[in-house]
Amino acid sequence: MNKEKTKVLILGSGPAGYTAAIYTSRANLNPILYEGIQPGGQLTITTEVENFPGYPAGVTGTQMMEDLKEQALRFGAEVRRGIATACDLSKQPYKVTIDGEKEIETDVLIIATGATAKYLGLKDEAKYMGVGVSACATCDGFFYRKKTVAIVGGGDSACEEALYLAGLASKVYMVIRKDCMRASQIMQDRVLNHPKIEVLYKTNTLGLYGEEFLEGGHFVRNQGEADEEKFDLPIDGFFLAIGHKPNTNIFKNYLDLDENGFIKTLWGTTRTSIPGVFAAGDVADPNYRQAIVAAGTGCIAAIETERYLNSIE
Ligand code: NDP
Repeated sequence: MNKEKTKVLILGSGPAGYTAAIYTSRANLNPILYEGIQPGGQLTITTEVENFPGYPAGVTGTQMMEDLKEQALRFGAEVRRGIATACDLSKQPYKVTIDGEKEIETDVLIIATGATAKYLGLKDEAKYMGVGVSACATCDGFFYRKKTVAIVGGGDSACEEALYLAGLASKVYMVIRKDCMRASQIMQDRVLNHPKIEVLYKTNTLGLYGEEFLEGGHFVRNQGEADEEKFDLPIDGFFLAIGHKPNTNIFKNYLDLDENGFIKTLWGTTRTSIPGVFAAGDVADPNYRQAIVAAGTGCIAAIETERYLNSIE
């Protein structure tokens, strides 16, 4: 296998990975960053980012990630295409396999691999994937112009995506399993006041139907209660916005993870259970999942990298 040695290896190209790259390259540590499955991370599939400090008029997620990348390149970070497919963190130097064909040995590993959208686990989701089912409204909403869609979830992501879809589709159902939403009040108000969005509380999805393409969904209201009611809705698109799963599969045999697979870090730091392995951004954050927090933890990981390298040299 093709081998290479570096001091600092960063996995992931969201705000956490790029911030870690900006700081470590500015500190002359010559980091190598692998972009991972989704170059630019999850922000590249959102629309407008309105709450990142410093952009009073908002910025598109894609633009922000291009800016971060440019800033990292300016200080000499090496940004490469590639996905980490295996690792050995049992001893120094740590080893990470890229695309199953190249092994990078590194003194410090910064894991910023982010998180991936969750699905309900219905057989029908797989059946209609790409022909009606999507976990990314901003990627696929375009295909549902003037059509009817449903989106599952009651968090900020679901609200954000419902509003995005409402700008394209003729009707948007929000399917929420509880009798309330988890989203922030401002987002709830926006969806509740939108004429094209109809919120279906206490509703679960039982299945989907359609010949070649998705034609509708089977739903149930008040499931398991005396007034349980099953009903069908004709829909052309079925979107999921029910949270994310951290991308930690290759690390699970080495690092302490929480019950949902997020990397556990020492409170207030990005230190994992292995010295010299740091975790930043959504991969270690089940709570906030904000670009600014990810960027902040990327910065912490970089500063801790410098201190760690000084301590072992
Ligand atoms: P959340 O975990 O906040 O919400 C997930 C939603 O999906 C909840 O309504 C949950 O329901 C529902 N859900 C989960 N599993 C299922 C299931 N199996 N069936 C049906 N419904 C299900 O995830 P988000 O991605 O919305 O947000 C994550 C974090 O990111 C939050 O902290 C949020 O504030 C933040 N965020 C902020 C944004 C912003 O500030 N602009 C934009 C997007 C996200 P239940 O409540 O019943 O568990």
